Amino acid sequence: MLIDILNIPLEVLECTDFSTRQLQLSVLRLDMIHPVISGNKIFKLHYYLQTAAAKKHERIITFGGAYSNHLSATAYACKLAGLKCIGIVRGDATAALSHTLQFCIQQGMQLQFISRQQYAEKETAAFIENLMQQHGPCTVIPEGGYGVEGANGAALIHTFINPGIYTHICIAAGTATTTAGILNGCNTETVVCVPALKGMTDIEKRIANCTNGPVKSKQLQIFYDYHFGGYAKKTPELIGFMNDVWQQHRLPTDFVYTAKMMFAITDKIKQGYFAPGSNILCLHTGGLQGNLSLPKATLLY
Ligand SMILES: *Cc1c(COP(=O)(O)O)cnc(C)c1O
Repeated sequence: MLIDILNIPLEVLECTDFSTRQLQLSVLRLDMIHPVISGNKIFKLHYYLQTAAAKKHERIITFGGAYSNHLSATAYACKLAGLKCIGIVRGDATAALSHTLQFCIQQGMQLQFISRQQYAEKETAAFIENLMQQHGPCTVIPEGGYGVEGANGAALIHTFINPGIYTHICIAAGTATTTAGILNGCNTETVVCVPALKGMTDIEKRIANCTNGPVKSKQLQIFYDYHFGGYAKKTPELIGFMNDVWQQHRLPTDFVYTAKMMFAITDKIKQGYFAPGSNILCLHTGGLQGNLSLPKATLLY
């Protein structure tokens, strides 16, 4: 690992709503590993960085939007690893760069802006070929670390999960790479996946693409209805929930991923989805830097 991870805080959320239903809800605070390469990103990058080292590539190329946690994590990781890196960004360079992109530049990432149309073709052989011609040999990391290497990296999160004690492990999904890795490494637990995007109906296919071998579909539960309007969309209800969770548990969540996942799980608890005796683990996958794009005073933290 690029940074030493000794132990990751595990917090049990106390709430009468949970105890009266004989449920335990805990949160694995992957967000506390590091302020930037926090959460799932450091894990997803692990094997891609190893590949770059093995192939003696000096440069990483990856992709993302203007608020991408993956871009900022990659920029920081490359700085630590002494690698050059290029971030291919969807959309035009606006006069005011997002906080995320400014951070990427500060870490030494070179940004290249491409149109949405070009971005849609970024993973075609022709596009990659062109990049290699421009920049020389380099390791290309798909958007969000999506792929077998990303999922294998995410599976390393199991090192920090007590085996055999949880009934459910809950994860917010963007590319579903983390979900794939956790599912692959699961023994008996059910993996609960909460997509942060609207209409993300290809999760099983995505997991299959990230998995060597069969997908454990029977151990997978997807809650589709908690995207709050779509990727990076939010409602006053979601923001209110985030502030409640902060006040009750001192747990900071990000509005793009972890707040939607926590909302889904607590809502499903209220609906009686989880049987008494369930021991639920939610992964706090980080992403708190994304809250900086919210207007000041939106959040209590
Ligand atoms: C990137 C990210 C995710 C999504 O992970 P995937 O592996 O792409 O599904 C979830 N939570 C946070 C906080 C993230 O930054």
